Amino acid sequence: MDLPLSSKLTVLKGVGPVFATALAEAGLDTLKDLLWALPHRYVDRGALRRIGDLEYQYSSEREIVTVLGTLKELRQTTTRVQRMGLTEALLEDDSGSLRLLWFNQGYLARTLKPGDRLLVFGPLSQGRHGLELRSPAFEILGRGPATEDLWVRRYLPLYRKLGPVLGRSRARLVQEALKRAHAPENWLPPELAKGLPEPLDALRMLHQPPDEADARDLEQRQTPAHRRLATEELFAFALGVSLRRAGRLKRQGVVVPTSPELRDRLKSLLPFPLTQAQRRAFKEIVEDLTSGRVMHRLLQGDVGSGKTLVAFLSMAMVAESGAQAALLAPTEVLARQHAATFTKLLGDSAHQLQLLLGPMKAAEKRAALARIAAGEARYVVGTHALFQEAVTFKALQLVVVDEQHRFGVKQREALKEKGVDPHWLVMSATPIPRSLALAVFGDLEQSVLDELPPGRQPIDTKLLEPDDAERAWEAIERALSQGRQAYVVSPAIDPTEEGKVPLRDIQAMEALLYQRFPEARLEVVHGRLKAEVMAERVARFVAGKAQILLATTVIEVGVDVPNATVMVVDHAERFGLSQLHQLRGRVGRGRDRSRFFMVSGAETERLRALVETQDGFRIAQKDLELRGPGEFFGVRQSGVPQFQVADLLRDKGLLARCREVAEKTLAQGLTEDQRRWLRQEQARLKLAEIS
Ligand code: ADP
Ligand code: MG
Repeated sequence: MDLPLSSKLTVLKGVGPVFATALAEAGLDTLKDLLWALPHRYVDRGALRRIGDLEYQYSSEREIVTVLGTLKELRQTTTRVQRMGLTEALLEDDSGSLRLLWFNQGYLARTLKPGDRLLVFGPLSQGRHGLELRSPAFEILGRGPATEDLWVRRYLPLYRKLGPVLGRSRARLVQEALKRAHAPENWLPPELAKGLPEPLDALRMLHQPPDEADARDLEQRQTPAHRRLATEELFAFALGVSLRRAGRLKRQGVVVPTSPELRDRLKSLLPFPLTQAQRRAFKEIVEDLTSGRVMHRLLQGDVGSGKTLVAFLSMAMVAESGAQAALLAPTEVLARQHAATFTKLLGDSAHQLQLLLGPMKAAEKRAALARIAAGEARYVVGTHALFQEAVTFKALQLVVVDEQHRFGVKQREALKEKGVDPHWLVMSATPIPRSLALAVFGDLEQSVLDELPPGRQPIDTKLLEPDDAERAWEAIERALSQGRQAYVVSPAIDPTEEGKVPLRDIQAMEALLYQRFPEARLEVVHGRLKAEVMAERVARFVAGKAQILLATTVIEVGVDVPNATVMVVDHAERFGLSQLHQLRGRVGRGRDRSRFFMVSGAETERLRALVETQDGFRIAQKDLELRGPGEFFGVRQSGVPQFQVADLLRDKGLLARCREVAEKTLAQGLTEDQRRWLRQEQARLKLAEIS
């Protein structure tokens, strides 16, 4: 009981440089990291099977079985056809015996010995000589004759192998750490800790579950011990967010002036009346801009809810006062499109707009930068990438970030260091359920557009078997004959990328479309094209010079062509639901009824969700449940906190509670212990990068 949890893992026996490096690569540096990395599963002795009771049943998914027995024969041979190393063994219990096979694991012949008591689990298959387990996982429980005390505990925790650190070695390290670590300070406020075990007890419970623990609760991570650890993670997160927010609220923001004249002027720029939702969102933004504090607001809404117009109004408010506002788009295609939209909206004042793109000619770029530096350009539209370079503004007061979950905290900090602390408005591409938005966007305030502009027709959505794809092509044919345009989306450029499914790649689709629509002008875009080429091709489609745009998901966000009324997505099963919904949002932008076809021979159950609803928030929720937050947001770069135990979906209520308590705790001031703990947790969960 001599080690603090912050001790490096090298204090443990057997952790030399090789182990330490492997563990560090998996993010495990301290005892705390090691202990918080819970077993990935438990073998429940209650679920142990007798070999004699095993029966092979044919089904698409192999049955995973766990058996306990004594190793009888052990042979090392080579497979006849592929010349692979083959380790064969026979495992016996008092009811029968079972063959075990491992491929190319020659070391096993040296690790295992006849007479070993083994706990084995793996997929049950039917081999030539009867039942067998191929490449099963195993635990050596002991050597020599079976004795009852070899298997005293009901639950056996299993750990994933981390490079050279095998699961068994990890188990040993964990046990040593549990023995030697002393209890951490109790920093969790009593109202959250009530009824939950102390942290070290919780860890003990999860690394060596007591026999009376409930197998289901363990598997689903719902024991009080889990709850204790999840609460620690969520409270650390909530406290970090509250701290950041408190810091921001102290910052002075530029007060953007308003007046009745300004209101009239802004109104005169609008081509149509705002929806209720747009009006509400804009009002919230105006309140922020005139509050004297720095705005950090997330504007979210379903595809087509009119976020751009709200962004434009916010920028116009700043520009009309003589200052500057910048809009950052994720791609050049989108930057150009926003610039075109703004140019139209601005009419006579269009000269106040400056587009800034990577591939501009040097002289052109210099002129653009000069106009921005002089403050002549009051609306600056460009890509994120560009913004990260040295662009100097005369009076930048507002930054709008479009269609990207997060714009690097670093860039924001860099701007601040230059003495610029503009207001921020972030627009999210995908609607995000509120509870999660909090987790991902940390301390941002939210405005939600929960209403579509009037006159929108629902998009007629169909799911087709590949054999019925002709129906989709007919719909395109009809649309083209009426002077409309169509999108076709193909998932991959390269069919070899996914060995398993024979994918029609984009070239094959191109050939198919040429043949099926010989009269139509077709443009093909994908991520491997140079930005200029892509922009030219999209521009031809936007201008109506091309009738069909064949694309990978590069068109997923933003492209706005009201004349396009049909979209066909091939291999729809390869896309997330939110992504498909986003794609679908590319049609249905005009007055005419639009159609959306998903061609797919798989996962029809999941894809049905899109046929059933057009509500982006509901689709996002479903997508999130199916894929989990990491996948949903596109893993790490999205800045979703990497919780070990907490689960943002399951623990929504707990997170809300932690937020409340965090606010209260912060109001009372943090103790030195709490500060130290918070720093540790923030490092462990990589929370620093969260906005
Ligand atoms: P998104 O929220 O997906 O970015 P956009 O801003 O691209 O949506 O808007 C979608 C379409 O709706 C655009 O063609 C835009 O001109 C139109 N639109 C936006 N606001 C209104 C409104 N209040 N009334 C009518 N049409 C609108
Ligand atoms: Mg948009």
